[in-house]
Amino acid sequence: MSRLVVVSNRVPLPDENGNPPPGGLAVAVHAALRESGGIWMGWSGKTTGEEEPTGLTTLEHGKISYVLTDLTQADLDEYYNGFANRVLWPIFHCRLDLAEYARQEMAGYFRVNRLFAERLVPMLEPDDVIWVHDYHLIPLAAELRKRGVKNRIGFFLHIPWPPADILTALPVYEIIMRDLAEYDLAGFQTDYDLDNFVGCLRREKWGDRTDKNTVHAFGHDFAAGAYPIGIETAEFARLAEKAGEASMVGEMEQSLNGSALMIGVDRLDYSKGISHRIDAFERYLTRNPEMAGKLTLLQVAPHSRSDVKEYLDMQAQVEAHCGRVNGAHGTIDWVPIRYVNQSLTRPVLSGLYRLAKVGLVTPLRDGMNLVAKEYIASQDPEDPGVLVLSRFAGAARELDGAVFINPYDTDQTAAAIGRALEMPLDERMARWRRMMDHLLKNDVGHWCRSFLDDLSEAPLHHAAT
Ligand code: UDP
Repeated sequence: MSRLVVVSNRVPLPDENGNPPPGGLAVAVHAALRESGGIWMGWSGKTTGEEEPTGLTTLEHGKISYVLTDLTQADLDEYYNGFANRVLWPIFHCRLDLAEYARQEMAGYFRVNRLFAERLVPMLEPDDVIWVHDYHLIPLAAELRKRGVKNRIGFFLHIPWPPADILTALPVYEIIMRDLAEYDLAGFQTDYDLDNFVGCLRREKWGDRTDKNTVHAFGHDFAAGAYPIGIETAEFARLAEKAGEASMVGEMEQSLNGSALMIGVDRLDYSKGISHRIDAFERYLTRNPEMAGKLTLLQVAPHSRSDVKEYLDMQAQVEAHCGRVNGAHGTIDWVPIRYVNQSLTRPVLSGLYRLAKVGLVTPLRDGMNLVAKEYIASQDPEDPGVLVLSRFAGAARELDGAVFINPYDTDQTAAAIGRALEMPLDERMARWRRMMDHLLKNDVGHWCRSFLDDLSEAPLHHAAT
């Protein structure tokens, strides 16, 4: 069996017993690494004041080496906060209005990818299979190829791939497309993303699909496919079943005083449609005044990327929005929206999901949205809640028992809240069962195995050159 080498921006380090931190991706990739042995490489999370990053730390746990590289402050500002999060993230989420392109930041992005390649090459063995994750590292295969690496290299994009009209607003889109073609397998979350990617190739006459999972572009064949990421479904269901034991969940239930709970859980990010959701909730309350005191929205929204201005602006906007709705609709003994910025643990989250009659997942665009899947996995099979799901989440391609909404259509989302609250038990059970069966079959372990199996069979265009 070949060794596996995983590269991602951050590395989820195990605890002192070698157990991975909670989180589907970390658990599944660790399981694969444990089986084959290998390396997980990424940024250490530390910055140095020097001009050249020097620190490279290696931690060994059983058959796995964790290789962590420091970055300079300029690297971090240009590669991570700059090009990755202020250019690629908004453009790939179709927010051209928020993209702030700067040549210097782009140079930093390619510089850090070169640094990763330089540091990885001496550790590679000829049979290693390399798996690169996400938009921070698209050029990594091209940098490795330049250094003579002929190994199998796969790439998985965790965020959406945009349509050609959007992508071409990125000044370096041709380089990004050519770099992606240097992988032996390019994996996307959904068939829509894959179609968009092929559409970009077709638009520029650079290539096309030759069969369902093979693309011919820039003079060679490579594999490209959709691999919708899953969660640890059975583990979430187990956690949720015993979550009543978590004191925070019990306290929440008591404090609701019989009012029904709806839940939203999102990193505080403009792609998540949090303001659209609050508008829809407010519209529902305005249209259904008899529900005052009988329905509460819990919005869990831990801060993220606070070094990026758009995220700071958003924090203030969402706070003000919640305050305004609570002021306008609340009463002395009822607060319509409970807004929590702290990050909650999985055992607590699973209990809150189970307590909630409605899961509100309303992103404007989302690669997958694991919260939607976690909400389903956490439900009581005898009395499941209803998922209200944006059609613009990758998860909408799989969770066909949800009540679908267009988050830009406030009336529709408000009506969907009413429909979810009134849905009869037999319909809730039938919808939930269908989705749960799908999630049990297509869990994160299945995702990881499917990707690695296909990578091991992908056409190897670089071996011949
Ligand atoms: N999450 C968490 N604690 C929180 C909020 C979120 O552990 O307080 C987790 C959540 O359970 C999910 C992940 O963060 O696994 C969010 O993943 P998703 O795909 O929904 O969105 P992303 O943040 O990756 O864009």
